[in-house]
Amino acid sequence: MDTVSVTCPYCFERTDLVVDPDTEGSYVEDCEVCCRPWQITVVRAGGELEVVVDRAQ
Ligand SMILES: [Zn+2]
Repeated sequence: MDTVSVTCPYCFERTDLVVDPDTEGSYVEDCEVCCRPWQITVVRAGGELEVVVDRAQ
Protein backbone atom coordinates (compact mmCIF):
# COMPACT_ATOMS: atom_id res chain seq x y z
CA MET A 1 0.00 0.00 0.00
CA ASP A 2 1.19 3.50 -0.77
CA THR A 3 0.28 6.30 1.59
CA VAL A 4 0.11 9.80 0.18
CA SER A 5 -0.41 12.98 2.12
CA VAL A 6 -3.21 14.99 0.50
CA THR A 7 -5.04 18.20 1.29
CA CYS A 8 -8.82 18.32 1.07
CA PRO A 9 -9.97 20.88 -1.55
CA TYR A 10 -12.97 21.76 0.65
CA CYS A 11 -11.88 21.90 4.30
CA PHE A 12 -8.10 22.01 3.65
CA GLU A 13 -7.43 19.35 6.26
CA ARG A 14 -4.29 17.35 5.54
CA THR A 15 -4.87 13.59 5.68
CA ASP A 16 -3.09 10.44 4.60
CA LEU A 17 -4.68 8.69 1.66
CA VAL A 18 -3.96 4.99 1.25
CA VAL A 19 -3.66 3.99 -2.40
CA ASP A 20 -3.93 0.34 -3.37
CA PRO A 21 -0.94 -0.81 -5.49
CA ASP A 22 -3.30 -1.79 -8.32
CA THR A 23 -5.16 1.51 -8.33
CA GLU A 24 -4.67 3.78 -11.29
CA GLY A 25 -6.94 6.35 -12.90
CA SER A 26 -9.81 8.31 -11.37
CA TYR A 27 -12.26 7.49 -8.62
CA VAL A 28 -14.40 9.31 -6.10
CA GLU A 29 -13.93 9.05 -2.34
CA ASP A 30 -15.40 11.12 0.47
CA CYS A 31 -13.22 13.27 2.72
CA GLU A 32 -12.83 11.65 6.15
CA VAL A 33 -13.15 15.04 7.81
CA CYS A 34 -15.95 16.91 5.99
CA CYS A 35 -17.46 13.99 3.99
CA ARG A 36 -17.54 15.93 0.73
CA PRO A 37 -16.57 14.04 -2.44
CA TRP A 38 -13.05 14.04 -3.78
CA GLN A 39 -12.23 13.33 -7.39
CA ILE A 40 -8.97 11.41 -7.00
CA THR A 41 -6.66 10.87 -9.94
CA VAL A 42 -3.83 8.36 -9.54
CA VAL A 43 -1.02 8.40 -12.09
CA ARG A 44 1.88 5.97 -12.09
CA ALA A 45 4.79 6.86 -14.35
CA GLY A 46 8.22 5.26 -14.14
CA GLY A 47 7.60 3.89 -10.67
CA GLU A 48 6.57 7.31 -9.39
CA LEU A 49 3.16 7.72 -7.83
CA GLU A 50 1.29 10.97 -8.37
CA VAL A 51 -2.04 11.66 -6.72
CA VAL A 52 -4.23 14.66 -7.51
CA VAL A 53 -7.27 15.50 -5.40
CA ASP A 54 -9.98 17.76 -6.86
CA ARG A 55 -13.54 18.63 -6.03
CA ALA A 56 -15.86 16.09 -7.65
CA GLN A 57 -18.38 17.67 -10.00
ZN1 LIG B 1 -12.62 17.79 3.77
